[in-house]
Amino acid sequence: MKNEEQHNLTKSEMVEEIPLACSDELAAVELLEALRWGRNPACVHCGSVAVYKMTDAATGKRNKRYLWRCHDCKKQFTVRIGTVYEESRLDLRHWCYAFWRASTSKKGVAALEIMRHCQISYKSALFLMNRIRFAMAPDNPAAEKLTGTVECDETYVGGKPRYKGVSKRGRGTSKTPVFAAVERHGRVRRQVVADVSGRTLKRAIREAVDNQARILTDDLPSYQGIGSEYAGGHDTIAHSTKEYVCGDIHTNTAESSFALLKRGITGIYHSVSKDYLHRYLWQFDFLWNTRNMNDGERTALAIRAAEGKRLMYRAA
Ligand SMILES: [Zn+2]
Repeated sequence: MKNEEQHNLTKSEMVEEIPLACSDELAAVELLEALRWGRNPACVHCGSVAVYKMTDAATGKRNKRYLWRCHDCKKQFTVRIGTVYEESRLDLRHWCYAFWRASTSKKGVAALEIMRHCQISYKSALFLMNRIRFAMAPDNPAAEKLTGTVECDETYVGGKPRYKGVSKRGRGTSKTPVFAAVERHGRVRRQVVADVSGRTLKRAIREAVDNQARILTDDLPSYQGIGSEYAGGHDTIAHSTKEYVCGDIHTNTAESSFALLKRGITGIYHSVSKDYLHRYLWQFDFLWNTRNMNDGERTALAIRAAEGKRLMYRAA
């Protein structure tokens, strides 16, 4: 987390500010400004700190659009510039509410609920939630690979089986395969995969896990041979013969990460299409990876992550 001391609000104050920021626009703007700039607001155009809040001549209060102006480049700006909410005309209090709910609801939050609470259209609520999920995505996945002992596992999410008695691993259904790599007591990285072939799953492991790590999987043949690429080797547990734990070899952490994900997706997001599932994975990975933070810290982290993500959004 960057420049923690710089920010005006202490962690406990932040938690207190958030409910007000969900209902009052000025409080929302000031919370987002404090999270972004702390005591040192800077021009988003030229970086100068010679900036001031514009006021309304008649009332002396802050300008209705919450504009700032830069003494150096003379340009105006707001806290929205350069964030995932730049192109939105929705009140920032709705963004604060949605950030808060998306960061604190373990089972996720549906766009419908945001729509009702904020009294905005369903389309706006979807827009908001999609961008918040994007803010929660890792900034640089290639630089943030998992280390140590890493459990790797795959599961199937969403959809309905086409017929009863379908195989346990979900083959032959409309469910979407999802791969997870999870550090023991640490971070998770999940991704939608095209299939569960050795080629696909090994590629997913290489993308998510540092080559110094130790890999733990079940005995699905697709994982065979991955150990030669990892300094810590590869241990397997024989799920096919109903063996689940052997010493420290198990994939229970990966399985509990999937259990939480599925509860979220079946409870809230009734039908998540395959094309959008990766966005939900960003959100649930973020929740898992920040589980030791309090609600205020986690919300603040998500809001700060929204900065700088605007231009990247279209690619997602
Ligand atoms: Zn400037």
